[in-house]
Amino acid sequence: MPSQKHITIIGGGLGGLVCALVLSKEGFKVSVVEKQKQCGGNLQSFTKNGNVFDTGMHYAGSLDEGQSLNTYFSYLGIMPKLKLKRMDESAFDIIRFQNKEYPFAMSLQLFIDRLLEFFPNEKVGLIKYGKYLQDFWNGFKMLSFNKSSSSESTSQEISLATLLNSITKDETLKQVLAGNHFLYAGHPETTPAYIHAIIQYSFIQSAWKFTDSSNQLAELLTEAIKQNGGEIHTQSEVLVMNVKDSKVISIILKNGEEITSDAFISAIHPSLTMKMIDEGSIRKNYRNRLLDLQNTISSFSVYLIPKKNTFPYLNHNLYIHKGDDIWKDLNISPNPLPSSCMLYTPYNSGSDNYSSSIKIMSYMDINRFSDWNDTHVGKRGDEYEELKHRISEHLIQMACEKYPQLKDNIDFSFASTPLTWRDYTGTPEGAMYGVERNMNASYISSKTKLENLFLTGQNIKLHGALGVTLSAFLTASEFIGFDYLLNKVKHG
Ligand SMILES: Cc1cc2nc3c(=O)[nH]c(=O)nc-3n(C[C@H](O)[C@H](O)[C@H](O)COP(=O)(O)OP(=O)(O)OC[C@H]3O[C@@H](n4cnc5c(N)ncnc54)[C@H](O)[C@@H]3O)c2cc1C
Repeated sequence: MPSQKHITIIGGGLGGLVCALVLSKEGFKVSVVEKQKQCGGNLQSFTKNGNVFDTGMHYAGSLDEGQSLNTYFSYLGIMPKLKLKRMDESAFDIIRFQNKEYPFAMSLQLFIDRLLEFFPNEKVGLIKYGKYLQDFWNGFKMLSFNKSSSSESTSQEISLATLLNSITKDETLKQVLAGNHFLYAGHPETTPAYIHAIIQYSFIQSAWKFTDSSNQLAELLTEAIKQNGGEIHTQSEVLVMNVKDSKVISIILKNGEEITSDAFISAIHPSLTMKMIDEGSIRKNYRNRLLDLQNTISSFSVYLIPKKNTFPYLNHNLYIHKGDDIWKDLNISPNPLPSSCMLYTPYNSGSDNYSSSIKIMSYMDINRFSDWNDTHVGKRGDEYEELKHRISEHLIQMACEKYPQLKDNIDFSFASTPLTWRDYTGTPEGAMYGVERNMNASYISSKTKLENLFLTGQNIKLHGALGVTLSAFLTASEFIGFDYLLNKVKHG
């Protein structure tokens, strides 16, 4: 009887937790094993000098009532408890490019109308662009819940560059439309247009920040799993999977404990999953393919605490691009100083006017820090600190061009590098979003070459709050049926 099946989920990030919650709701016995002290992965927040900082979840889209992520979270039972802040309708993102500021507004009509203020001759192109986003969304069953839509995302064959070139000849508009590409770390020629479409359109529908911290999402999911009888084991790093006759029979934790289960779901990077399996126990080509996956670029973040009541709370994100090429930082170059960044102010309950912290993020190739590859957090030495300082100052300077008052009003600041990211999250190369979505690479299925081992999380379908949720539902549907699950999500 399926309700007695025991499923062990490796990794308690968003993907592992959502998957565990769905399966526990559907009557399975679930156990989550997480290597850190707390679940959450990228959802986790941390405290420094009494201030709470988010790591990797700043805003999420399609959370208005009836919209996709809201529908999934409602099925999970967490929607009413989430504390959220709706961002500015007329500009949830601002793209600062060549010293002009272009707003991205909520609702397709307003999005188009606001951009028409800057590109009055581009009505046809902008309408075509909007239609592409909407058609893609509506054509994908997991997003639209439309019975006649496809259960797979189909238009993988066109690249982001092809989409933008088909919309307009105006180079500035092309750059502006992709001006928040930090959200998917894509390359115009190789990133499928649909990745851009899903992410962009989810925010155009509605954009929300997590009030006080995104950690609340992990807490709510963990609580609900436990209420359904599921178990959460933190400080439980999985090192080995024992395989017999094409089935995983048990996993071994760092503390030596062995866990047996009917099925296993790995919610960590596929290459790390493969490293846990003995070479001869899984098809060689498959193992090698997952070991060799290309990852997205890493990031550099500088966290600032401004003096009290000196920096406004911004109910939008600001994407700053210096120069005339928004893609420049994705090309590996010897110059370590970024030319683009994203500035974000978290929303804390009760502080609508001023920000108590600011985060500035940029892309950063982990190879910039290769001299310190074998070092550990807090013990990397003076030269590392100097490089960190230089990049931080540069990013702060970029922000000061827009907010000059910031310069003299910083109480303290600190930064994280790709190595920090690699060491805290365990993601290979500190990759921002795990595996790169590439037109030329085949996709990773949630099924593996072992009968009872499945994959989930940001590396399977898509990253981000929405993408990882879709991925988790897709993996869970392997146990209960896709149409059955989607029907339950839609109709309760
Ligand atoms: C800088 C940055 C900004 C971002 N901003 C946004 C945003 O604004 N909006 C948005 O929607 N998305 C954003 N994202 C993306 C989003 O945070 C991720 O896609 C998502 O949280 C990934 O969830 P996951 O469960 O797949 O992976 P993870 O969060 O990486 O979870 C994996 C978990 O597995 C655990 N683990 C690893 N190895 C083992 C092991 N051997 N044994 C046991 N446990 C293990 C880890 O500790 C971790 O808890 C951002 C990401 C970054 C890096």
